[in-house]
Formats: sequence, C-alpha cells, structure tokens
Amino acid sequence: CAEKALSATKTGGGGGFTFFSKQLVPASARLLALENELRKALNTDQVCLHYQPQIDIHSGEIIGAESLMRWIHPEMGFISPGEFIPLAEETGLMVQIGKWSIRSVLRTVQDWHRRGLTPIVVAVNLSARQFAQDDLVAFMAESLAEVALGDFRIELEITESIAMGDVETTVRKLADLRAMGLMVALDDFGTGYSSLSYLKRFHLDKLKIDKSFVDHVAEEPEDSAIAKAVIEMGHALGLKVIAEGVETQTQLDYLKTLGCDEIQGYYFSKPLPEAEIVDKWLARVNS
Ligand code: C2E
Ligand code: CA
Ligand code: CA
Ligand code: CA
Repeated sequence: CAEKALSATKTGGGGGFTFFSKQLVPASARLLALENELRKALNTDQVCLHYQPQIDIHSGEIIGAESLMRWIHPEMGFISPGEFIPLAEETGLMVQIGKWSIRSVLRTVQDWHRRGLTPIVVAVNLSARQFAQDDLVAFMAESLAEVALGDFRIELEITESIAMGDVETTVRKLADLRAMGLMVALDDFGTGYSSLSYLKRFHLDKLKIDKSFVDHVAEEPEDSAIAKAVIEMGHALGLKVIAEGVETQTQLDYLKTLGCDEIQGYYFSKPLPEAEIVDKWLARVNS
C-alpha cells in the first residue's frame, strides 16, 4: 500500500470523501461504515505495515523497528490507526486485525532473515483486547513455530491498561510469552494508571516513555522530572528505556544526559514502507 499512499494523499484531500464525510452522516454511521470497510480491507493490499527505526542512543545504530499499521482506502484515502484501531477494539474486529499484523510481521522478519539483513528487534503492538484473548499464548507459539527468524527478535508492545485485567493471569501470560523468546515493552509509559508494584511482577524488557513527556522534556521541569524518574526506575529494575516521538536534536541530547538507552521518532525517521526500511536501514551484514 506504499505507492498508493502517495497518490491517495494527493487526491484524497479534496472531494473524495462523499458519503463517508463527517458532514453528511452522523459519526456513528461513519464508524459503522469504517468497520465494514476495514473488515473487507484486511486481506487486500489496502492494509500494510510500516516500520519505524529504533536507534541506540550511544552508537547511533539501528537496533529495532516498530511495526505500525497503515490503511489506504480507495475512496477515503489514508485512515489513521489512531482512528481505526480504537474502533476495531470496540467492535471486536481487533482480534482478527491483531492476528493479521502478527502474522505479517513474522513473515516479513523471516524474509529479512533469509536475505541476510542486519538482525534487529521488531516490535508489534498488542491491544488490551488482544492481550486478553485466552488463546494468545497458543497463537504466538503456533505462529512462531511456522517461521525461522535467526537472530531477529520479536517484541510485544503492551500498554498499562492490560494491568486492569486479572493481575495473576497477566503475570503468567507475560512469563509464558518471554519463555518463548519474545521480548515485552510497556508502551506509552506514564500515561496509564497501573500500580508501580506491577512493574516488579510483570516480566518486561523495556519501558517506552510516552511522547507527551518527550515533547517538552528539555523545557518543562515537570516533564524532565518524569522522564528522569522513568529512566532511573527502569534501570533499577534492569529494564531498557526507550523514548518515543523524538523530533529534535535538543530532545535527543537531553534524553542522553538523562541516561535514556534508545530513541524512536521523526528526528531519525518516520515509519517507512517495508522496502524503504530495508534499503535505508537494514544493510546486509558482511557487505
Ligand atoms: P503508538 O504505539 O503509541 O505508536 C506511536 C505513534 O507515534 C505512531 O502513530 C507513530 O507513527 C507516531 N510517531 C512516531 N514518531 C513520531 C514523532 O516523532 N512525532 C510524531 N508526531 N509522531 C510520531 P500511528 O502509526 O498513527 O499509530 C497510532 C497508534 O495506533 C499506535 O500508537 C498504536 O497504539 C496503534 N497501532 C498502530 N499499528 C498497530 C497494530 O498493528 N496493532 C495494534 N494493536 N495497534 C496498532
Ligand atoms: Ca507502540
Ligand atoms: Ca507508544
Ligand atoms: Ca504514545
């Protein structure tokens, strides 16, 4: 869906929105239309994954990439995951979408491995509803068994809202997932309301400082205090800390002085179509 993304944004801005337009139909009708369209779109090339590099703050090298869904509708143009993911989560379609994105990531990473590209950690977002599925652990085990990934690793990004479920079940699931070699990152950290005591009990590898604290980290004392506390606490618990939404050199430098380990954001790169992250970031080993 990469090339079409360009033409869709070029033509999509003006008149193309016809009967899905917010002005012509109530919001609920738009949502219903979106859900139906999304259901149909899943196994077509309207939907694809883009990948955003994650950079080691000290070496400046790529060490990971986050997969992010993109949906280019032939009439409606680009529809943000910020719009369709919460919708899918409400309607239950999310489980199907989630399985699609996990399988797609695994196929792509296997391909990268076969092509001898630089091994990195590839992150997949897991919604709360996906995480709550009884068959999540079995689904991951089966899906992993079908692919060979070499030294590539898969990381699951979960948010604090998973802690709202049954804590014992969450602890067990996270342990099972890590036992199969998956890594786990706590996404949007600081925006939720889970108890800090969970951090010790959950089996995690990484904390992701939310963009909302990164935006003004170098100017707002409160934001820098939060970033600093997250980094120190993460390190004290043996976790890596990554900052998301880094757009400027100032933010990067400031996060470096705070001891942050990894950086993701437009400063280095926007999320890229698969072919482009390969060309620009995943050069062959030994060449
Ligand atoms: P997220 O997991 O917090 O992803 C980070 C969002 O910030 C992405 O938005 C990314 O494109 C954007 N971003 C990254 N760096 C910068 C930056 O420097 N500046 C700015 N302004 N934005 C930046 P995106 O791709 O629109 O995704 C929105 C949300 O949709 C994600 O938030 C995630 O919660 C969800 N999502 C996306 N793909 C998937 C998926 O495959 N599965 C699930 N379950 N959720 C997904
Ligand atoms: Ca994420
Ligand atoms: Ca995030
Ligand atoms: Ca965020």
